[in-house]
Amino acid sequence: MDRIYLDYAATSPTRQEVVEAMLPYFTNRFGNPSSIYSYGQETKSAIEMARAQVAKLMGATTEEIVFTCGGTEADNWALKGAIYAQKKGNHIITSQIEHHAVLESCKTLERHGFNVTYLPVDKFGFVDPADVKKSITSQTVIVSIMHANNEIGTIEPIAEISAVAREAGVLFHTDAVQTFGHIPIDVNVLGIDLLSTSAHKLYGPKGIGCLFIRKGTKLEALLNGGDQERKRRAGTEHVPGIVGFGKAAELAQQEMARETERLTDLRDKLVKGLLEQTDHIQLNGHPSTRLPNNVNVSISFIEGESMCLNLDFAGICASTGSACSSGSLEPSHVLLSIGRDHVQAHGSLRLTLGKWTTESEIETVLNTLPGIVSKLRAMSPLYKK
Ligand SMILES: *Cc1c(COP(=O)(O)O)cnc(C)c1O
Repeated sequence: MDRIYLDYAATSPTRQEVVEAMLPYFTNRFGNPSSIYSYGQETKSAIEMARAQVAKLMGATTEEIVFTCGGTEADNWALKGAIYAQKKGNHIITSQIEHHAVLESCKTLERHGFNVTYLPVDKFGFVDPADVKKSITSQTVIVSIMHANNEIGTIEPIAEISAVAREAGVLFHTDAVQTFGHIPIDVNVLGIDLLSTSAHKLYGPKGIGCLFIRKGTKLEALLNGGDQERKRRAGTEHVPGIVGFGKAAELAQQEMARETERLTDLRDKLVKGLLEQTDHIQLNGHPSTRLPNNVNVSISFIEGESMCLNLDFAGICASTGSACSSGSLEPSHVLLSIGRDHVQAHGSLRLTLGKWTTESEIETVLNTLPGIVSKLRAMSPLYKK
């Protein structure tokens, strides 16, 4: 039996066209892009083609794209690079619902003497631009608010928040790992100075991503060594990964509009079905200002982990909270921030749809889940119908 994969927010398979574009760069076209003979020039131009494909998908210029080993590195670099590069301030503003790559970078910077404000969010997960404005001081260097949340799918009012930062002369970074290639992004329209992406969330390979660095933005390099990436990020380039990322970005650009429409329909069908057939269930995140592929619900009196294991036995891959916190018994920091109590946070189920999700798979989930919910609730001492 084919498994039903509903965890595209954790990672996605690399699509065949992308693998094919990458393959020659493992074997025949293996030259080091820094070499001056033709082998090197061949890979160098492949990198530049990929850079153009990635830049185009966010309205950036090619000089503003620097390849990294993924979203985590891009997030670390944006925050640490910005604060190390200037002498005047020591303050960062972010939100309580950021990805761990941002939150843990902030914690490290706090240990090194920098100050961080972690803004709260409302019940849908929205950051209030007015809160950002109130938190800015003469010491503030950078504001970092994610474009869309990886757990509950909420899309933040990025343009409003960046406008507040701009007005105060403060840099604005956004983690766009969940949105790049999925919903339209224009770094100029949205007023973004720094933006993180990762290829494996848009059907590209793992271990490659980029940081968009607006022209003129001062950023300290984190990796020192050779002159690669215009001396901003040392290390021999991950050529096959970069080529694959470029191909994935190109395909995403062609298919985004159609795919958004298809996934939104499937998402809404799944949410409607879940809410109708289950009692004591709540949708997490906003009903419509959310990622087209994200469903997240809290089902009371059930452990999310047991639900995921039971779904796994039924051939369905789902997640509770984020993959990073699975395995630990800490409730999701995102769900606690939107006001869910510990019981509701523990009973959370995230189903994220993607390119290969079909309507019949959604129906299978809707047919499978009620049995699992009643079975688990029958064992719960707290549940009364
Ligand atoms: C997946 C993810 C990351 C981490 O990206 P990697 O390439 O896996 O390091 C960062 N932020 C968000 C919002 C993500 O979903």
